[in-house]
Amino acid sequence: METEEKSLNFIEQIVEKDLADGKNNGRIQTRFPPEPNGYLHIGHVKAICMDFGIAQRYHGVCNLRFDDTNPVKEDVEYVDSIQQDIRWLGFQWGHVYYASDYFEKLYHLAIRFIQEGKAYVDEQTAEQIAQQKGTPTEPGQASPYRNRSVEENLRLFQAMQNGEIEEGRMVLRAKIDMANPNMHFRDPIMYRIITSHPHHRTGRQWNVYPMYDFAHGQSDYFEGVTHSICTLEFVVHRPLYDYFIDQFCEGPYRPHQYEFNRLNITYTVMSKRKMLQLVKEGLVAGWDDPRMPTVCGLRRRGYTPEAIREFINKIGYTKVEGMIDLGLLEHTIRESLKETAPRVCAIFDPIQLVITNYDKTGETILAENIDGHPELGSREMPFANQLYIERGDFQEISDKNFFRLSPGGREVRLKSAYIIQATGCDKDAQGNITTVYATYDPDSKSGTEGGNRKTKATINWVECNSALDAEVRLYDRLFACENPSAEEGDFRDLLNPNSLKVVNCKVEHSLISEQHTPQMIEGIAQVGHYQFLKQGYFVVDPDTTDTHLVFNRTASLKDNWQK
Ligand code: ATP
Ligand code: MG
Repeated sequence: METEEKSLNFIEQIVEKDLADGKNNGRIQTRFPPEPNGYLHIGHVKAICMDFGIAQRYHGVCNLRFDDTNPVKEDVEYVDSIQQDIRWLGFQWGHVYYASDYFEKLYHLAIRFIQEGKAYVDEQTAEQIAQQKGTPTEPGQASPYRNRSVEENLRLFQAMQNGEIEEGRMVLRAKIDMANPNMHFRDPIMYRIITSHPHHRTGRQWNVYPMYDFAHGQSDYFEGVTHSICTLEFVVHRPLYDYFIDQFCEGPYRPHQYEFNRLNITYTVMSKRKMLQLVKEGLVAGWDDPRMPTVCGLRRRGYTPEAIREFINKIGYTKVEGMIDLGLLEHTIRESLKETAPRVCAIFDPIQLVITNYDKTGETILAENIDGHPELGSREMPFANQLYIERGDFQEISDKNFFRLSPGGREVRLKSAYIIQATGCDKDAQGNITTVYATYDPDSKSGTEGGNRKTKATINWVECNSALDAEVRLYDRLFACENPSAEEGDFRDLLNPNSLKVVNCKVEHSLISEQHTPQMIEGIAQVGHYQFLKQGYFVVDPDTTDTHLVFNRTASLKDNWQK
């Protein structure tokens, strides 16, 4: 697959200028800071490609930092999956850090803020605090607790941490400016009490937890991050990011925050809250359901790391929010598999074809994996007088616009094999066709001189005795509407009822070979991709066992959604 060489994106331009100016002595350090409260999705991949990409390109380092400041929703399951997904995508971090590594440091920093008169303990409810916030054009009101003494604030903050105060009863707020036009400066909350859930790393050690704004910039500073890159919704947080760091940091070094547009894709949702709901309520089979926009879902669907990175490269980075058509992601994997996926026959709605004048016991047809590319190898297809073909490739009554099999109709080539002509058919009591009869021309075999004879149509087949049964899962878009997040009402009502169709089909014998069953690499199943001729791109599903083959449709051959 070709990766277009693009002009520098705006963040790369900033980095190049910083390097030219000798900032931070030429040191480049980024971080990818997921909250371990869910699985990574394709939106995160956009951030990953930026954070790791900058470090790679400019010989810096990108660290992985788990932003684990809310024990209520976080879990090691997510910590593990995030690392696995980043490695699978092809990126390597310098260190793994956790915001929870800094709880002690941040706690002491909060005490210092209190001592310097820059923070106070507020006893109001969340509703009261919200009511006093004001609006961007109206100043907020001061909390009645705003002017407590340093001693009282210290004592109460200590009591909060000691577990003496009930969850929700008190918060620590920064004392900044209740009239600031930037609402984030109106005495933002620095700490809250959480006693209901142990933390996945620190257990019950802490009863107070820092808020995002108080933890993120400080963590960047502690680690030595130079370029802290995030998405546009954090633009309004940036002054506060700088403010907190300015309060305590010494020396010239400062981390800087830069923002790019987040990735939104049509026909899906990328909020972890909504994805979790789909998983918990069984509306999808799990985080790795092949319809999910998660990295593990895309992997199971058959997306490759290369195709996912290529997609991110195509959409680029800007400072304007927008919506990307899911068709572009599908196009990217289709284009990439087109070049590499071996072609195989799979008959989705089989009827039997009997070749009445074929008097050999059978033979082996050598079929190229990709037509016209002998260098990509070939495979053996058993051939005999009983084959399965698609029901739709036969029509009982001939018709001049139907180029495939009809009694007395045209000659048709069996893919990579012989030319045949239909002679008749059998039907069951309901009138369904069960068997088609045909004769073949022994001198028409593909690859021989007679093989050059042209027919109007070529049809797919598999030999009956050697054919394998396979379950194929035909996935389609998860939602039926373009932007489920923008619609009124319950997003679950917008799910596409036809997003999964299961078909039992007959596939050619070559699919049994060992290389087609998933191999585990770094705990991740690596599987082969195929183009099922005329059907689409498919990948082996990890549900496959020695006796039961399961394939997922990665993509159809064409975009069926294009308006
Ligand atoms: P959610 O709101 O669904 O919980 P999040 O944005 O809070 O998601 P984080 O784990 O905090 O998820 O995200 C880690 C990093 O990934 C952040 O830097 C964030 O800006 C980035 N990120 C998250 N979603 C997207 C997206 N859709 N496009 C680009 N970057 C994203
Ligand atoms: Mg977040």
